[in-house]
Amino acid sequence: MTDPRPATTVIVGAGLFGLATAVHLARAGRRVTVLESGTAAGATTAAGAGFVGLWAAGYAWYWDESELALEQAGLDFYRGLDAAGYDIGLRNTGNVWLALTEQAVLDHLLPFAEHPLRPEDARLLTAVETAELVPGLDPEAIVGAFIHPDGIQISAPDAGLALAALARAEGVEIVEHTPVVDLLAEGGRAVGVLTAASERVLGDEVVLAAGSWTNELFAATDRVLPFARVIASRLTTAPFGLGELPTLMIPELDGLWIREHLGGLTYGNGVGYEALAVRDSPADRRPDRPDLVEAMREHLSPIVSELIPAAAPVVDDAEAVQGIVSYTADRRFIAGPVPELDGLYVVAGDNESGVTHGPGLGRMLAELMVTGESPFVDASRYAPGRFPSRPFADEAAVAAAMPARRAVDARAAAATRVTTESGLPAESGR
Ligand SMILES: Cc1cc2nc3c(=O)[nH]c(=O)nc-3n(C[C@H](O)[C@H](O)[C@H](O)COP(=O)(O)OP(=O)(O)OC[C@H]3O[C@@H](n4cnc5c(N)ncnc54)[C@H](O)[C@@H]3O)c2cc1C
Repeated sequence: MTDPRPATTVIVGAGLFGLATAVHLARAGRRVTVLESGTAAGATTAAGAGFVGLWAAGYAWYWDESELALEQAGLDFYRGLDAAGYDIGLRNTGNVWLALTEQAVLDHLLPFAEHPLRPEDARLLTAVETAELVPGLDPEAIVGAFIHPDGIQISAPDAGLALAALARAEGVEIVEHTPVVDLLAEGGRAVGVLTAASERVLGDEVVLAAGSWTNELFAATDRVLPFARVIASRLTTAPFGLGELPTLMIPELDGLWIREHLGGLTYGNGVGYEALAVRDSPADRRPDRPDLVEAMREHLSPIVSELIPAAAPVVDDAEAVQGIVSYTADRRFIAGPVPELDGLYVVAGDNESGVTHGPGLGRMLAELMVTGESPFVDASRYAPGRFPSRPFADEAAVAAAMPARRAVDARAAAATRVTTESGLPAESGR
């Protein structure tokens, strides 16, 4: 008697979400094919800044224990990749939130210190203690900080490529330069996909992991995932001899984040973001919006130079990387079975934090597909079926429905610009 044929899974999209799902499914015995319209890890994943931390422990107030478990799964996964010899630029630097004013200590740091999910070793820091941890930071520029020592930094593009290599090593077939144009369904069940070259790629199950382009593939189901797509930008300076830094985040400055990158800095904030719905721009895999870059450079050059004076000579020439992220209506990821079609699954709605949550979401989806449950998280929080099939009229309506901001963030947003003009959250989800 021959062994039963292993179930086959077709995954659309070789970003972090699709590749993480592929790895976990292959480990569970599935034969997996990933179809990618461009190159593996070449779209939004290539633009990621690579902060991985426990955001549910005080930063993202709409998240709870379940997101914390996903975040811990991400930390463990990347540490495992690093230990297995994959070069993903991993650094155990911790994440540090800075306050530039006493008010920001009250508004932004104390909620961390008092948060029920706060890790044991997370703590408030004085300005002097912070400057000792952050070489090059001017202690006069801040009044205090809060540290999550367990956070890490990785290179998101390198991690994406490492995941592709790992997936291949686990037996996954990744087929690049193969756009998928349609889902194939028979008798109320997904049976495969159709490529732009009219090839039918059949499988027992189909996973849509096409990032901010996932809704283009839902025509067969009459479902539209409720996410609002956003161009997100970051700037990278030339090297100027900077050593390792913890990841820095400054919520009061439109969610400014800063990290060291190859001896220079990479950074960004809400000024370099815009919802696609604002101008109805095309959702290019790698967007090119020099106006957003210029606005962000002009806004951030003096701020970054004041915080880290050694960066002053290089900030004006910082170069930009942009990507398209998808914010969901309830700020939770969308991962699980699609109610309208048996055998169809989705993992999308990255909320600009897919580097962190991708490995855990991939594990969760693989467990759901193979065993029907995933006890390490509350999978119902991410079920596509928590929304009706067409819950919002358009992406602007999705953005408007996002959870109410904390009062302090609402004040900050009103004083700046992003939320009201573009319908975006001014802070990033990372
Ligand atoms: C500036 C910036 C900074 C960020 N920083 C961080 C951070 O510090 N920490 C963090 O956790 N997250 C961060 N993120 C978010 C993170 O990069 C994303 O959440 C993550 O990469 C999303 O992965 P994905 O697989 O969903 O999407 P993608 O990487 O876009 O993957 C989707 C893939 O599907 C393919 N595809 C689409 N349509 C089709 C089709 N029809 N047929 C075949 N293939 C298709 C695309 O080509 C693409 O490769 C950042 C994002 C940006 C833009």
